Amino acid sequence: MNETIKRIAVLTSGGDAPGMNAAVRAVVRSSVFYQIECYAVYQGYQGLIDGNFKEFSARSVNNIVNKGGTLLKSARSLEFRTPEGRKRAYDNLIKHEIDALVVIGGDGSFTGAMIFQNEFNFPVIGIPGTIDNDIFGTQFTLGYDTAINTVIDVIDKIRDTASSHNRLFFVEVMGRDAGHIALNSGIGAGAEEILIPEENRGLEQLLESLKKSEKSGKSSSIVVVAEGDKTGKNVFELAAYVEKNLPYYEVRVSVLGHMQRGGSPSCFDRVLASRMGVHAVESLRDGKSNVMVGVMNDTMKLTPLEHAIKGKSEINKDLLRVTDILSI
Ligand code: ATP
Repeated sequence: MNETIKRIAVLTSGGDAPGMNAAVRAVVRSSVFYQIECYAVYQGYQGLIDGNFKEFSARSVNNIVNKGGTLLKSARSLEFRTPEGRKRAYDNLIKHEIDALVVIGGDGSFTGAMIFQNEFNFPVIGIPGTIDNDIFGTQFTLGYDTAINTVIDVIDKIRDTASSHNRLFFVEVMGRDAGHIALNSGIGAGAEEILIPEENRGLEQLLESLKKSEKSGKSSSIVVVAEGDKTGKNVFELAAYVEKNLPYYEVRVSVLGHMQRGGSPSCFDRVLASRMGVHAVESLRDGKSNVMVGVMNDTMKLTPLEHAIKGKSEINKDLLRVTDILSI
């Protein structure tokens, strides 16, 4: 047990994700439970540099388990990318007598945390908070479950209007490099086709599949497109291409955008955040550093930050097969 940890700091960084507040609450409350003082840092790494710290008690995190976004705010800090910025951050942590730092964010935030740890030998631990679910070392990141549930709610609504007019809808969802959101929400919402960055099956296959849908008498069709799909066309170009080649389709496009990040976290994300927050504090007490907390087969596990950043989180390719079978 590392009895030298008497005071820790927690911050949220990078893109916000539902469940970040629940994770902050868990870090604060488990710190108090283990008689460790906990400071919240506002505005991510920029707050470390500016000394934007506030001591939190167990009561400071009342009624936030259910809130979306991040009450600690997030910021993209250019200064933290410089050695001078990180030195100022370190000086502020020392000034506040803080012994360890919990960073809730995505792979960019973890890269910053790892560089910081290596430069100053300062204990850091990461909690994966990003809706993309694209971090190696955990089956689920905070916010992902909420995001896919938000997406299926919206696609269900789009389906209502699509089937009233026999329309084909292209729905663009988040995922520049990873197709987890598209693949899972696509299956959940009964999409006819799902286009993801990991697998380019070509435009011909898309046309073939849509031709089949039309012949089979479907009253509406939904194609879910991840932002980073590799067809070489953006979602509007895809829609125009299909309309040109299959003129019997009346095609519409819906880009879901930032709504996917918002909203109250699902129960799954709240529980995950709670477990991750507790495990982060307990791991720091165990003397662990430079690692990320993750969950695998319902068990908490630690992964070195370096692997979490460099490793690839694979999609489950069997889900593509399932989509093909079910979209007949
Ligand atoms: P998301 O997945 O939502 O984009 P993220 O954590 O990857 O989240 P980034 O904007 O990439 O978001 O990173 C957040 C912050 O981490 C940056 O604003 C910067 O302060 C810090 N950071 C990222 N990369 C580095 C780096 N190479 N060196 C130092 N700091 C970095």
